[in-house]
Amino acid sequence: ATEVRLASRPEGAPTLDNFDVVEVDVPKAGPGQILVRNTWLSVDPYMRGRMSAAKSYVAPFEVGKVMDGGAIGEVIESNADGISVGDVVLHGLGWRTHAVLDPAGARVLDPEVAPVQAHLSVLGMPGLTAYAGLFDVAGMKEGDTVFVSGAAGAVGSLVGQLAKLRGAKRVIGSAGSAEKVRWLREELGFDAAFNYKDAPVREQLREAAPDGVDVYFDNVGGEHLEAAIGALNVHGRIAVCGMISQYNATEPTPAPRNLAQIIAKRFTMRGFLVGDHAHLRPKFLDEVAPLVREGKIVYTETVVDGIQRAPQAFLDLLSGGNTGKMLVRL
Ligand code: NDP
Repeated sequence: ATEVRLASRPEGAPTLDNFDVVEVDVPKAGPGQILVRNTWLSVDPYMRGRMSAAKSYVAPFEVGKVMDGGAIGEVIESNADGISVGDVVLHGLGWRTHAVLDPAGARVLDPEVAPVQAHLSVLGMPGLTAYAGLFDVAGMKEGDTVFVSGAAGAVGSLVGQLAKLRGAKRVIGSAGSAEKVRWLREELGFDAAFNYKDAPVREQLREAAPDGVDVYFDNVGGEHLEAAIGALNVHGRIAVCGMISQYNATEPTPAPRNLAQIIAKRFTMRGFLVGDHAHLRPKFLDEVAPLVREGKIVYTETVVDGIQRAPQAFLDLLSGGNTGKMLVRL
């Protein structure tokens, strides 16, 4: 068996030296437990936060210990009622080839619904994040103009499509390459998209949203947030999902310099955690799974093979190497 441990905490951007890939014995399932051979691991931006020692909404990873995270695998040994050898389960003990866990920590997946790894992307945590953030947190409604940053990523690519399906007047996305921008416009149906590296976001957003923005779904923070505030209409709403442009920052970053506009524009800005919206999962799946099956929602994955390459996959995720969900296949 192989596992990936946190070797050291990064200062600024993480590097491969922060990880150790270690060979270990295959663990054994104890009484009532299952042994899972993982087939898919998820690497996610929030893991950057857990590599630091600072307290947050999830405990930091411990140096010298395996990094955990979302994973899917096949049950190869079961001492648990209700879970059989051969079942495919979703669980939280990623970054290892083999995991022993109590059945309470595993959800058996129906492989008929979609390729199982979709439960780590469009039908999983990132999908629910998009759904909850757009509808529950930002209260997006028909006729809104919606801007989403990180638009070609796992969360952002779904935000834009859900907004279109719910009758947005105009959907605008930003992403970090010409190919991603093309994908958003030509394959996902965004009305406008731009590469934030080409010119200041403020200028590109003004051009893309001549009538302003009603809902901004923030995955990036920083310059994007400031530009969105500038473009926001009166009574606009900002759902703050992530601020990935700041995750490697070593100094506190300045607030949006135009925050005072919150008064005259009477806009709302609300942060959220997907974990607080778990009750929406059945509704989300009822609505979104059929759309995915019918091809009305497009999703893609960037797949990296082999647990040895999981650290590199994570570094690539942070620097935009993915379109759609970044996954590691074992
Ligand atoms: P993505 O698939 O979007 O991958 C991250 C992307 O961020 C990269 O592909 C890259 O794309 C972009 N990026 C990296 N650095 C920058 C930068 N400096 N400026 C602009 N874009 C950058 O990841 P997810 O869909 O999983 O997550 C998206 C966001 O949602 C993250 O901020 C994450 O932390 C947050 N999140 C929050 C949750 C919550 O409960 N609040 C739950 C899940 C995710 P590009 O090429 O476009 O730069």
